[in-house]
Amino acid sequence: FTNELAEIQSKPAETTDGVAIELLANIEFPTEIHDALAQGAVGVGLYRTEFLYLGSESPPSEDEQVLSYVEAIRSLDGRPLTIRTLDLGADKVAPGLGALTTAERNPFLGCRSIRLCLQNLPMFRTQIRAILRASAEGPVRVMFPLISNINELRQARMIFSDVCEDLEDQGIPFNEDIPIGMMIEVPSAAIQAATFAREVDFFSVGTNDLIQYTVAVDRSNEKIASLYSAAHPAVIALVRDVVRVARRAKIGISLCGEMAGEPEFALLLLGLGLRSLSVTPPAIPGVKKLIRSVSMSQCERIARRVRSFDSDREVSNYLRDEAERMM
Ligand code: PEP
Ligand code: MG
Repeated sequence: FTNELAEIQSKPAETTDGVAIELLANIEFPTEIHDALAQGAVGVGLYRTEFLYLGSESPPSEDEQVLSYVEAIRSLDGRPLTIRTLDLGADKVAPGLGALTTAERNPFLGCRSIRLCLQNLPMFRTQIRAILRASAEGPVRVMFPLISNINELRQARMIFSDVCEDLEDQGIPFNEDIPIGMMIEVPSAAIQAATFAREVDFFSVGTNDLIQYTVAVDRSNEKIASLYSAAHPAVIALVRDVVRVARRAKIGISLCGEMAGEPEFALLLLGLGLRSLSVTPPAIPGVKKLIRSVSMSQCERIARRVRSFDSDREVSNYLRDEAERMM
């Protein structure tokens, strides 16, 4: 079994009827890129940048951030790097944040992620400057997490343009055509995807949060973990709509939630029209094996069949059976 997975690493992620799937990696540290490439990733679809804050008592300087982004770019050697701006707060708490965060009654509904950045502009601008400076070194994309309202996106983009202007004035090189995207991980953004699609270059669906906000289940609460399900028909309906909107608007679309790393869900996601998945590095060989053993028409049939189920239990049983039959 191990040999089989080792062999698959150098083969393309392509269905039996020749549809190419882009398999990207989710990483938290630049040092993970080596392993991600060894597992067969063709780039990074989600670079979580919170580690810069989580490890230390004081916020990282602009230069420290540039170093870490450039390290990632160099390790990728021309492959794309998708940097997500800071997603701090709630499940990602940092000692170095100190005064920036206060105790809240509902942290997952609170001042986290892009909201925290928009309320702490010096911190946000520093990160954007660092990302832009690094962008001169290789193919970088940037995305904003937890956007729930179009005004947040506009504000973030405005700050981004502002920082671009500063760099230009100072004669500091950066990629002027850097693609800008957003995570779709809040139901309001998923429902309003057509509006958002007019103002970004790509979407990345973050199902870890999208599930928790759609079914109102704290993703870290074990007491209700059985209600937290990627197979919930409401979650699948949102993903289906977002993919459709992105394809119609001709913008990029990828999915970087944990569900993409589970072969039975990957099967469904391909059937829903996704052609790019970003998963944790150890999951890459298994997902690739699944991709190489199915045809797109089988995936589409499965996605259609899933529409007829009312409950997450029926959906997950069905997907498990189908995946077992195919692999
Ligand atoms: C997500 O929410 O699906 C996601 C990929 O981001 P994180 O798990 O870092 O919140
Ligand atoms: Mg998230």
